[in-house]
Parts: sequence; C-alpha cells; structure tokens
Amino acid sequence: MPPVSVTFGAFEESAFVAPSILKDRYDRAITDLRVSITDRCNYRCVYCRTGNEGAQYSELPMADYLRLVRIFVDLGIEKVRLTGGEPLLRRGLVDFVRQLAKLKTRTGEKLDLALTTNGHLLGDLATPLKDAGLSRITVSMDAVDAATFARITRVPGSFERVVKGIRAAQQAGLDPVKVNCVLLRGFNDDQIVPFAKFARDEGVIVRFIEFMPLEEDRLWTPNTVIPIREVIAQLESFRPVVRLAPNTVSETAVRYTFDDGIGEIGIIAPVSQAFCGQCSRIRLTSDGKIRTCLFSQFDHDLYGVMKRGGGDDELAAFIERTVTLKEARHHVGEPDFLKPSRSMVHIGG
Ligand code: SAM
Repeated sequence: MPPVSVTFGAFEESAFVAPSILKDRYDRAITDLRVSITDRCNYRCVYCRTGNEGAQYSELPMADYLRLVRIFVDLGIEKVRLTGGEPLLRRGLVDFVRQLAKLKTRTGEKLDLALTTNGHLLGDLATPLKDAGLSRITVSMDAVDAATFARITRVPGSFERVVKGIRAAQQAGLDPVKVNCVLLRGFNDDQIVPFAKFARDEGVIVRFIEFMPLEEDRLWTPNTVIPIREVIAQLESFRPVVRLAPNTVSETAVRYTFDDGIGEIGIIAPVSQAFCGQCSRIRLTSDGKIRTCLFSQFDHDLYGVMKRGGGDDELAAFIERTVTLKEARHHVGEPDFLKPSRSMVHIGG
C-alpha cells in the first residue's frame, strides 16, 4: 500500500490510506463490484432466460450508475465489471466507460475496468470501448459450432458475429480476451475439446463455468452440471494438461495449459468447488439494488435511498451496512437451498 505524504507545518508524516473500508463480518474485503446496466438482452440462453417475450425491463440513467459507482470506489472498490442483461445494448455505454475510467481507487490507482458481453455487437464497439478506457473483456460463448450455439442462445445465425467480435476485441488491444462457456449436460458437453482447440488457435483464454441454478426456466438439476473431472478427462483425451499457478489469491478459475504450453483453459466451479471464502464481490442490479451474493434471498435498495434524496454520505453508509450482511457462503446442492427469485439476467452475472 503506497504511503500518502501529509505535511503539517514543518513536519511531514506518512499516513496510510486503507485500501478498502468495505469489510464483511467474515473479514473479507470487498473490492470487486459488478454493475448490471440493463436487464435487456438480445439472446435468450436456455440456462438464463425463459424463451418468452414481453418481460418488463428496468434500467437507471447512466448518470445515476456513475454516481453510485463513484461512491463504491471511494469506499474501496478496485475492480468494476459492467454486465447485464447485455451491456452493449445500452446507449451511452462508451461515454459511461470514459467517465468510469477517470475514477481512481482509494490508493490512487487506475480502476480495473472490465465488461462481460455476449459479443453480438462487439465487432463495432471493441475499439471505441478500448479507446474509452476499458481494460479487459469477457465474451460469453457456449459453443464453437454454429448449430449448437443457436440451440443454446435461441438466436439463429449469430455465431459468426460473436467470433468476429472476439477477434475485434483482440485487434483493439483488449487484453486478455476471455471466453466463458457455461457447460450444460445435453447441450454442449461435446464442445470441450473443440473449445480447447479454439483457445489455442485464437489465442484467447477459454473458461468453462459450471451451470448454476439461476435460470428462469427450471432446468437445473445436479445432473445437468458437468463435473470438473469430466472436463479434465476430455481435455486429456486431446493432449496432456498442465496445472498453472493462480494469478491472484482470490482467483476463481483453476488454470490449465497443455504439455506444449499453448492455450489456456480455466475451470470455474462455483457449485462443486465453491470459493465463497475468498469472495470479494458485490453486485449492483440494473434497478439499483445491492446483492451481496448471487444466491441471496434479498435485495438492498440503494437506489431507493438515492431517490429519496439521500446524499453521498447516506449512500456510502447504506453500502457499508449492506456489506456487513454478506452471506458466509451459498447453499447450492444442500437440502436447505432456496433458489433466488431473480435469474442471472436480472442480477447481473
Ligand atoms: N449478456 C452478457 C453475457 O452474455 O456475457 C452479460 C450478462 S450474462 C447474465 C453474464 C454471464 O452469466 C454469462 O457468462 C453467462 O453465461 C452467465 N450465466 C448466466 N446464467 C448462468 C447460469 N445459470 N449458470 C452459470 N452461468 C450463467
């Protein structure tokens, strides 16, 4: 933590700025904020949304998200990930990113600014987003063949657009470009080796994510989750895998490469190998509510405080209090597990 120099008359003392004031009851520092800037989406992925049209949407003005994010950052958030819904659908996104990129963390560092997208509109937006100050991007893509992709997203003919978007992100200099694939038994369990080849050919980091019970349709059962050992066995059938060291202590992915060092694969297993003990995340939903865990039963209405005219201090106090309510862990797969009432598209993945 860098010292901050403070001058008192003739004396100069070193004071320290605590990196985060956001600590929960379990002594976890909360440094990672995910902000959903819309709950609209142009895909209807089977593991997320229902196929039905006509849902109600909720979004805040970009200026309100900006104010809230600034308060979070003043309290110690170091990483902000924009998500949704589909964040590239939001008008004013590039300018929003430009404003966020000006924010500094409590210790005066540049904010780590990332975005998760389905990639459909990325071809045209990758360079403007990079120029505006976006650091990193994750593209969700659940198959590397067009027919499987269409079956999962329920949007025919869009696979090529997403691949183009991934390449545009690389060309724009967004680094790293990660590709996230939610594995779902009966849908894309045959895509593991093709994805390994894709990672090697395209120079992207591919991450397989366990399917979580956060979908609108009731699809999830323990059998729909593809266990890590099965993923590894399939990768090994292609080439021997080599485990890589984690990049950070709170890294959620277990990282692998192959025996020739080409290609990186991550496995994220929030269900079978939960990482709640290292969780540093908090979420702001598109309607301005704080969620302390993906699987929370409660929302905390931060925007309600703002609408009632709450000042920055009041909003900051609300955030600090809410962080102390963060759950110790999730209970997925246990008899007492209660599925949250909102799906991933509303919470912000
Ligand atoms: N539209 C953007 C996208 O597709 O990346 C951002 C929002 S999406 C809700 C964020 C991430 O959540 C995606 O990577 C998606 O695959 C993942 N996701 C959604 N529902 C999920 C579920 N039930 N289990 C695991 N991951 C899920």
